[in-house]
Amino acid sequence: MVLRPIPAFSDNYIWCLHDGTDALVVDPGEAPGVLDWLAAERVKLKAILLTHHHPDHTGGVPMLREATGAAVFGPAGEQLPEPVERLCDGQHVQPLGLDFAVMHVPGHTAGHIAYYLHELDGAPLLFCGDTLFSGGCGRLFEGTPAQMWASLSRLAALPENTRVCCTHEYTLSNLSFAQAVEPDNTDLNDHIRHCRQLREQNFPTLPSSIGLEKRINPFLRAHLPVAAQAASLRSGATLDDPVEVFAVLREWKNVYR
Ligand code: ZN
Ligand code: FE
Repeated sequence: MVLRPIPAFSDNYIWCLHDGTDALVVDPGEAPGVLDWLAAERVKLKAILLTHHHPDHTGGVPMLREATGAAVFGPAGEQLPEPVERLCDGQHVQPLGLDFAVMHVPGHTAGHIAYYLHELDGAPLLFCGDTLFSGGCGRLFEGTPAQMWASLSRLAALPENTRVCCTHEYTLSNLSFAQAVEPDNTDLNDHIRHCRQLREQNFPTLPSSIGLEKRINPFLRAHLPVAAQAASLRSGATLDDPVEVFAVLREWKNVYR
């Protein structure tokens, strides 16, 4: 299997997977880059997986469907370019003969789903849209901190070697915020150096892994004393509930520059 993030817009990635014959793409916000890639790889687009309704994740669907006839899958309860096969938590979808489990992960949007593949070429794979980013998480447009914390906790419980395919290259700015939360986290500081080198050469910082994110991503660490301490300092109240800590971190990040 070939796994590739195609850059789109200023900082999106459209994840593409093919087996030499057939391909799938995740969250194609635009079509041209995908069509070029399909032609260059000489593969046929069979499936389009959508995580949520935002235009930077769905804008390329009509043109790709028109050009390839690919089947489109997406979350129940969100407005998407029809026709779409709707998916709920716990359902499985089998494009290219792979078996993706659907996880409902509300927070960024109300219906947001993630696609989890238990094993591909030796490790699990997760397409998580705008829920989990490397070093960060999506903004809470349609959900509460409690929902997002629950969603992120489900993702954090996946195997540590799960490859995390997020849809934005936000890593360096996320890690700069993470450093404000945890200045003494050596895993974090090492990873910042590594990602700077990657970005200097214009390489993606993704996929990440669940194991790495649990060490460096403050939004997966809201249950830890170090995060509670930082959030308490920030808010001026003594916080120990992970949801409250998460809420303070998320609002802090919204205004962090
Ligand atoms: Zn989004
Ligand atoms: Fe997005």
